[in-house]
Amino acid sequence: MSFTDELMLWSHQQRCEKAVEALGQNGFSAIYCNNSQEAHDYILRHGADAGSIGFGGSRTIVDLGVEPLLADQGKEILNHGTPGLEPAQKMEIMRRQLTCDLFLTSSNAVTLSGWLVNIDGNGNRVAALTFGPKKVIVVAGRNKLVDGDLTAAIHSVKNVAAPPNAKRLNCNTPCAKTGFCANCNSPDRICRIVHVMDRKPRVADLHVLIVNEDLGL
Ligand code: SF4
Repeated sequence: MSFTDELMLWSHQQRCEKAVEALGQNGFSAIYCNNSQEAHDYILRHGADAGSIGFGGSRTIVDLGVEPLLADQGKEILNHGTPGLEPAQKMEIMRRQLTCDLFLTSSNAVTLSGWLVNIDGNGNRVAALTFGPKKVIVVAGRNKLVDGDLTAAIHSVKNVAAPPNAKRLNCNTPCAKTGFCANCNSPDRICRIVHVMDRKPRVADLHVLIVNEDLGL
């Protein structure tokens, strides 16, 4: 690693640790991970006792590669993004995610003041993030950190995360064509629910891993 890369890594680490400290002050169980391998290992450790595991549709979680390992351990995998599912099957899986043992997701944005900010289309992801599963693990790469307020976080989600997600989902939205949010009114609009967690919900067992790597969208 070059000296420049070392300095950049150190700089990112400071931001990650600042977010972890703020998340902790807001009641979350917040953990700094040097890399995605540490996040991967954390999930496998904390998923050991889980019988059913829900997946919130996060590219970050997909890229960690934990799903096949958990499936091999005999866990019930509740992933509505599994290819070949009929709409009714997807709906049933999304409902069952709400009461699973462990729910895995990312957050569209994490502010350095320790807020989780998400924008959802159906609401299933933010519902499970908020209440229901016995345990929730949120994994956010350093690219999800926002040094700003709620307005900055929403702007970041709509202009950085949403366009490639809309493209990935083949949505007929302006952002999927241009890469920029047009605050559309499309039937395919994926931005329908703005969800802000400024403190950990009182009864939730919610862990947030901040990873010093770029992960997901
Ligand atoms: S509001 Fe519409 S254009 Fe803007 S990011 Fe969401 S889906 Fe894309």
